[in-house]
Parts: sequence; structure tokens; C-alpha cells
Amino acid sequence: MNENDLDRRIADALERVGQALRVQLWDAAKEQSLTPTQLQVLLRLATDPPRLRRVGALAEQLDVTHPTISDAVGALRRKGLVDRETESRRSPLILTIEGREVAGALAGWQDRTIDQLSELPSEDKEVTLRTLLSLIAGLQREGAITVARMCSTCRFFERDAHPGETPHHCGLLDIPLADADLRVDCPEHQPAA
Ligand code: SF4
Repeated sequence: MNENDLDRRIADALERVGQALRVQLWDAAKEQSLTPTQLQVLLRLATDPPRLRRVGALAEQLDVTHPTISDAVGALRRKGLVDRETESRRSPLILTIEGREVAGALAGWQDRTIDQLSELPSEDKEVTLRTLLSLIAGLQREGAITVARMCSTCRFFERDAHPGETPHHCGLLDIPLADADLRVDCPEHQPAA
């Protein structure tokens, strides 16, 4: 098999995994009578800092339009799952108590995929994670992914800062990081210059 065939097969495999994840997302959303976008907004609001809990930032993070997020937030507010921190329209969005409960119930939406991954050897998974992080960074450089909150594109990331098995360092959290610890979607991420 030449290199080009291998690349194409990997892309095909990623497409199948992406489809399986989309089905899991749709199923989890349907169980809670939500749309997939509403589900993603709830999960973001459960973990993101205040600066990212705004319609514009959510649209950017989820790679959809501003009106799409406005509609989703409007529906979530009508369901009593989301509110604003204060009366001001500029105030960050927050989950209500009921919203936190629903977000907690949704947190395991990827579990079917994670269960399958748990069966695979750790060494294979570490190589896979490194490969996928490089692929995501490349797609972001090409403009195919607008936001990727990964360690490798973060201003706080110090690659190979330490000897041994945890060679990297997060300057914000002040913790060493092994390759397997590298984050793919960190809420504290700030883009490197
Ligand atoms: S802030 Fe998050 S993305 Fe940035 S280096 Fe630390 S763990 Fe990684």
C-alpha cells in the first residue's frame, strides 16, 4: 500500500468514527429533548470560564453562526436550563440548577466510544493521541478548524521542559504533562502568539 492509500484510509476511518460520535451526540440530545447544538451549549456552559460563556464565543468554539447559538440559547432559557449571571444582556450565561442536572446527565454522551478505546493498548493510544493532535493543528493552520483548544497551540505550553516521563509543562496550572496528558479541548487555553 502506498502512503497516499494509507492517508486516504485513515481519513475514511476518521469519517466513520466522526459519524459514530455524531450518532451518540444525537441520541443523547434526543433523550433530553434537546437539539445537538443545545446539548453542546449546555456542556460548554458547564465547564467554560465566564469569558467564553457568551453567544459570540460559543459560536466561535462550536464553529456555527451567531444566530444558531442565539436560537439555541433562547430555547434553553425557555426550558429553564440557562440564564444570565446578572440582569445585564452583556452578562455571561450560566446554567440554572436544572441545567446543571441535565448537563451532568449528558456528560457521558461519548461513553460508547470511550468503552471501546479502553480495550486498546495504552502505547497505541498515546501514539494515536499525538497523531491526532498533529492532524488537528494542521487542519487549524489550513483553516479547516477555526478553534482548537489544545496544549500544543497554547501560550502556557512548554514543550520538553523536564527530563523523564512528564516532559512538558503547563505554565498556567504549573503542572508537568506527559504526552498522554496533553489536552484537546482545554477551557483555560489561550492561543500562542
Ligand atoms: S492552559 Fe490548558 S491548553 Fe494551555 S498548556 Fe495548560 S493544560 Fe494545556
